Amino acid sequence: MEFSAKVEEMCICVDCHWVDRCKTYHAVETQHGVDHLNATPDIQPKEPKIHINLNISNSDAEVEWDVRSCKSFLKDQGRWMKLCPGKEVPT
Ligand code: SF4
Repeated sequence: MEFSAKVEEMCICVDCHWVDRCKTYHAVETQHGVDHLNATPDIQPKEPKIHINLNISNSDAEVEWDVRSCKSFLKDQGRWMKLCPGKEVPT
């Protein structure tokens, strides 16, 4: 028997105007071990809620951090992609 439930939800930060200035997104980048958009973010967002997902496979464990809500969110569709043209959008 196999149980499988996969929810694909992206971090809302990729469509947020503040993504390259945000201290919380900077922390998410650190957790994912990816390059930072900005080494010195200067905005502390209001009440970001981070969803932490633990994926365990046969020999591996992976932790994903995604911001799912935030009172500072300012919609700027595709903001991350505009900052990093040609790169794969983080999920
Ligand atoms: S949604 Fe919130 S946590 Fe994410 S980049 Fe925007 S301000 Fe930062």
